[in-house]
Amino acid sequence: MKELKTDIGIIGAGPAGIACSVQLKRFGIEHTIFEKESIGGMLKNANWIENYPGYPAGINGIEVCELLKQHADQFHLNIYFDEILSADYDAGKFHLTSENYSVECKRLVIASGTKPKPVTGVEIFPEANEYIYRDIYNLRNIKNKEIGIVGAGDAAFDYALTLAGENKIHLYNKGEQIKAIPPLVKKVQENDNIECHSNTSILTVEKLKKRLQFQTIEDIFQLDYLIFAIGRLPLKDFLSPNILLHQNKLVADDKLFLIGDVANENRRQLAIAAGNGIECAMRINELEHGSY
Ligand SMILES: Cc1cc2nc3c(=O)[nH]c(=O)nc-3n(C[C@H](O)[C@H](O)[C@H](O)COP(=O)(O)OP(=O)(O)OC[C@H]3O[C@@H](n4cnc5c(N)ncnc54)[C@H](O)[C@@H]3O)c2cc1C
Repeated sequence: MKELKTDIGIIGAGPAGIACSVQLKRFGIEHTIFEKESIGGMLKNANWIENYPGYPAGINGIEVCELLKQHADQFHLNIYFDEILSADYDAGKFHLTSENYSVECKRLVIASGTKPKPVTGVEIFPEANEYIYRDIYNLRNIKNKEIGIVGAGDAAFDYALTLAGENKIHLYNKGEQIKAIPPLVKKVQENDNIECHSNTSILTVEKLKKRLQFQTIEDIFQLDYLIFAIGRLPLKDFLSPNILLHQNKLVADDKLFLIGDVANENRRQLAIAAGNGIECAMRINELEHGSY
């Protein structure tokens, strides 16, 4: 395992991590980003972003990821494509490990976003798992399939719109209340390839030949894929019990920073994540160089 020392470690190259890194670079502060997948984070699942200032016609999530990659290249950001498996704090330093590196840093920025909420109350047979997804990135190019999406919020509706171009979509809501914002609801209602089913709770999912079969109280359906879009939780699994126990103090002491979706509960938005990243870098600059 190779050893690496960096002043500031950033976990995650989504919009929060990239914004923080660009601003740190502008201040001339040495730092390193670690990213387990690709630049852009959850944006690679987003259909159409209408609320990011400066894009009046809206912009596709994949395009924002591409622009973030260009931004990272332009600023020669120091990104290691490696998953941080653990992070601990000892003797005034953070110690991170990945498969390839043992990393020491004096400040740690956590920009790791979220993970899917666990599915409860549904019996899923193990063979069915290869047709069940928690986001849509790997399904974006499929065609002529019948896809079920469980959920009633923005993500479920957004996924339905992305996949409806060349597929038939069924949106399953266990109750009647829709939590998605009105523009998404309107687009879904106007789309002939999307059918909404309320009061539909899935009880079991099993694989039947090359399709999924699932059962509700009243019916049995067959589909090609099923996506659970039932909410997300902050992704902090790699933090040691020691860091979690002392998290508030480490934050108050300006050693540890949590930015973007990992810290923003239900205010998970691109502009907020990017703003958090810039603000965090400015705070680090004040600590390193004093305020201007
Ligand atoms: C379907 C959908 C539609 C959306 N539409 C909009 C919209 O219209 N407008 C809007 O403003 N926002 C929208 N968003 C929200 C937006 O995508 C997020 O708010 C934003 O991506 C959060 O950025 P982030 O950097 O905090 O986290 P993320 O984008 O989640 O990035 C976190 C990064 O950290 C990496 N990571 C995690 N753990 C580790 C680890 N241990 N080691 C290394 N790397 C790690 C991940 O791989 C990921 O790349 C949408 C989201 C979704 C899912």
